[in-house]
Amino acid sequence: MAQKNSHLTKEYQGLWKEHGLDAVVLKRKKKQKKTRGIPKAPVGTKSLAEIQIWLGECRRCGLCKERDKIVFGSGNPKAKILFIGEGPGKAEDKSGVPFVGRAGVLLDKIIEAMSLTRDEVYIANIVKCRPPKNRVPTEEEIDRCLPFLQSQIKVIQPKMIVTLGLTASSILIGDDSPMGQLRGKFHKVAWSPSIPLMATYHPAYLLRNPAAKKVVWDDMKQVLKKMKESH
Ligand code: SF4
Repeated sequence: MAQKNSHLTKEYQGLWKEHGLDAVVLKRKKKQKKTRGIPKAPVGTKSLAEIQIWLGECRRCGLCKERDKIVFGSGNPKAKILFIGEGPGKAEDKSGVPFVGRAGVLLDKIIEAMSLTRDEVYIANIVKCRPPKNRVPTEEEIDRCLPFLQSQIKVIQPKMIVTLGLTASSILIGDDSPMGQLRGKFHKVAWSPSIPLMATYHPAYLLRNPAAKKVVWDDMKQVLKKMKESH
């Protein structure tokens, strides 16, 4: 049986309750399956616009202090493929749009190479506000922000999720294994096993390691093949 999310503060537990969320997590142990929360949107939430209203000018975690804009996510609300990264960078914080910096340009090229456009996919992040100096978000920050992404996934109902980089991959899969072990094969979303998930390297990693572009393309070819098969 799932365990109550006891580490959450009273204020946050109240918030979850207020929105009809039943927060549960399993213990986090290295190399052990984990899940951070059972997605349950506020009662009556049926659209991304409603999730955005629920999010509001969010100040639920410390990342609100230094952010310029909340980066909610963008793309087709009925996208078949959902790309998920770690969090906004400087360019995204300024614009409010995910993946618009140098890494974003590279993601655009990956999407184009898949014969798709940004308007056909959806792009989001684990946290919606920029962590200072682009550090990895803390567990508390992730826990507070994740229900919004979970709700977005529930509303979009993608046929495939592609996680970009270790943070997004380990959270969505529920496995802390290194990226080299997670990438290149299909997983299931920890709290929504009907959605297949491909983990691959983050475009920012590809900027530092261009040789890995081929590996990412191999991963995307698998994604396209599976999408075609499922038709
Ligand atoms: S990161 Fe998420 S939970 Fe934290 S302030 Fe931003 S929107 Fe709110």
